[in-house]
Amino acid sequence: MDLPSAARSGLLPALVEAHTRCGAIDASEAGRIAAGLRMPAALAWEAASSFPDFERETARGAEPVCVGPACLAAGAIAGPGQVAVECQHRCFEAPAAGEDAPFPESAIRLAGPLLAPEDTDWRGLDAARASGRDGVLAGLERSGLRGRGGAYFPVASKWSAALARERPLALVVNAEEGEPGVYKDRALLCRRPRRFVEGLAIAIEALAPAVTVIFLNGRAQGAMESMRSALESHGDILPAAPRVVRGGGGYVLGEETTMLNAIEGRKPVPRVRPPFPVESGLWGMPTVVNNVETIASLAVIFREGAAAFRARGTAAAPGTRLLSVSGAVARPGVYEVEMGVTIARVLEMAGGPAARPIVAALAGGPSGGFLPESTFGTPLLPGQLHATGAALGAGGLLFLDSPAAVRKTALYLAEFNAAESCGKCTPCREGAPRAHEMLASGNKAGLEDLLEVMAVASLCGLGQMAPGPIRSALHFWPELFA
Ligand code: SF4
Repeated sequence: MDLPSAARSGLLPALVEAHTRCGAIDASEAGRIAAGLRMPAALAWEAASSFPDFERETARGAEPVCVGPACLAAGAIAGPGQVAVECQHRCFEAPAAGEDAPFPESAIRLAGPLLAPEDTDWRGLDAARASGRDGVLAGLERSGLRGRGGAYFPVASKWSAALARERPLALVVNAEEGEPGVYKDRALLCRRPRRFVEGLAIAIEALAPAVTVIFLNGRAQGAMESMRSALESHGDILPAAPRVVRGGGGYVLGEETTMLNAIEGRKPVPRVRPPFPVESGLWGMPTVVNNVETIASLAVIFREGAAAFRARGTAAAPGTRLLSVSGAVARPGVYEVEMGVTIARVLEMAGGPAARPIVAALAGGPSGGFLPESTFGTPLLPGQLHATGAALGAGGLLFLDSPAAVRKTALYLAEFNAAESCGKCTPCREGAPRAHEMLASGNKAGLEDLLEVMAVASLCGLGQMAPGPIRSALHFWPELFA
């Protein structure tokens, strides 16, 4: 059975509203929502109970204390009157406590064209409008822009593939940013929202989508308020107001097909591909999914010109990108760097070690891996940085200053991936918890085989990449897990 899409797509906004009002959503509340939407209660509860944020009673009166990887490495622990919460994406001030707050300008440590002070005109949009759809696609092609979400797929190719279907299409902005240790899209939305709106206008100009959705992390209150304000102030440059949808938690929600299911009011789990979203995505429409940094980069490209964009970075990976730098460095925060910069140079820009010498960097968070200081000459480029798993990913870089911190972080990430597994496929659902147990106990017989099965047989990136932190930690620091 399928339901009219209009009714079903009202489910997630209704769940978010109920969670805000009630603190948690139980089956009876889901049933009331379902009745209002004229959908079966079982379908509403199936979706609601799959979002981790909706199950939990909001900790009223208790102060949230972040125990994400950067805060954990900084010694975070919840005391009396406090409650431990997952990464609050404020790693630049680890250990972080309190509610979500607007991203501070002071945590932007290095600005390039993307994070430069905002302009007062719309020169990028004007240039895009003057060149038309074909001109925008040609400009994108010349710029060499690759998506900044982690897969680094060429943006011009993705747009062309969706347009080639010659059907009404959807544009979805991925502002979920649920990866622990990453906060650069929050920085953009809070501090440079006008640049994001200009980029969005350029994308809409070229793609002429039938529907535009911005999917925002449900806990990113500061980014939500800043973006809403920018859309109110500058929305006149958009042909129609985009629909803004907030999530309900879960790392896998950042996976694009999971996000499409969530927007449609379905259980937030990945879809089997093919078809890919550019073929059949939101409500079956060809769908372009780009993240906030990718969208904002459009404003830079059409303002400065494709050649200027291409002059930065490397031939294969042009432009700048935002890094979320955290951990044991003197100046954690967001750094706009040219693609291809080395980890050693980033460490130097971040002021070097805060106290003790740095022994390792975690690149790519739960879907990446650890690198020892001896490899810090590695350039940060799309794809794997080391065969054991480290990857540039969404641009998270956590510096650690002791082997004990490496062990603690590796165990945290193994447990995190197990907890975040949506359970749809067996290799990840059964493999991730078992891999965590084996790593923690030191009984590693068969662990490498298990990791290999997870990497090749899991349905989505969460299970496929979860072996990275384990493999890399074991490869470089086997003595920590004996
Ligand atoms: S790999 Fe994990 S998160 Fe992805 S579909 Fe399978 S069980 Fe779900």
